[in-house]
Amino acid sequence: MADRVEDLARAFERLPGIGPRQAKRFVYYLLSASQSDRSRMADLIRDLNANVRQCRECMRFWSGAADICNYCSDPNRDDSILMLIEKDQDLLAVERTGAYRGRYFVLGGVLTLSGKGHIREQELVERVERRTRGDLAEIVLALSATSEGEHTADRVRELLAPLRGHLKLSVLGRGLSTGSELEYADAPTLSGALQNRKET
Ligand SMILES: [Zn+2]
Repeated sequence: MADRVEDLARAFERLPGIGPRQAKRFVYYLLSASQSDRSRMADLIRDLNANVRQCRECMRFWSGAADICNYCSDPNRDDSILMLIEKDQDLLAVERTGAYRGRYFVLGGVLTLSGKGHIREQELVERVERRTRGDLAEIVLALSATSEGEHTADRVRELLAPLRGHLKLSVLGRGLSTGSELEYADAPTLSGALQNRKET
């Protein structure tokens, strides 16, 4: 018979930043928790299938009934500016500043110097191509101030080169210290970096 403790530990090991020992700690914590706590957690995970979907436009995950998320469908947001970010958590960090009213596209990762990693290249090119036929005037590269962030920005520039035309491409201004991830930037810093963005 399969060892369920081992099976669950291996499932936890697949979570980012979790090693075999931490994975085991999670399993034994769950075994010591009440049955209702365990069921609640299992239900929440199961619910992700039914109640969270990926926005067809910006690719972020959201708990709504429509194919397009609330930011993408909001008629009061600015169609002339599109911000490219690495991951969903970065989008939430930018939203917390209240300083940005444009549209988003979530790249879904970064590219490493050693050639690892993945970003949504095809979807990005399609979105930008379509939006250049509309009001799009500026693309903001809001990536982390890390070597991966810079490497990813280079690839995005390459991808968008044939589409640039009159598009302005900008990056976040100073304020974000080197090595810092967007997700962890505080609201005033991020807001300042947004206001001081510069053309690239
Ligand atoms: Zn969206």
